[in-house]
Amino acid sequence: MKAFVDENVCISCGLCEGVCSDVFSLDTGVAVAIECEISSDLEDSVREACDGCPVQAISIEE
Ligand code: SF4
Repeated sequence: MKAFVDENVCISCGLCEGVCSDVFSLDTGVAVAIECEISSDLEDSVREACDGCPVQAISIEE
């Protein structure tokens, strides 16, 4: 699994970082996801962040 954030859509609410800080960070002001393959033990929380994003800025590639 890989995760991506559309920086043009993200409103910097911080939810994704709060749910899964191993994958998402807001260090640059908007959320960014790690570029490498996401380990299987983090997949559920990444899906939770994706589902919880209020503006659907997160996409997942299985
Ligand atoms: Fe941006 Fe969505 Fe993450 Fe909020 S949950 S910081 S809007 S990507």
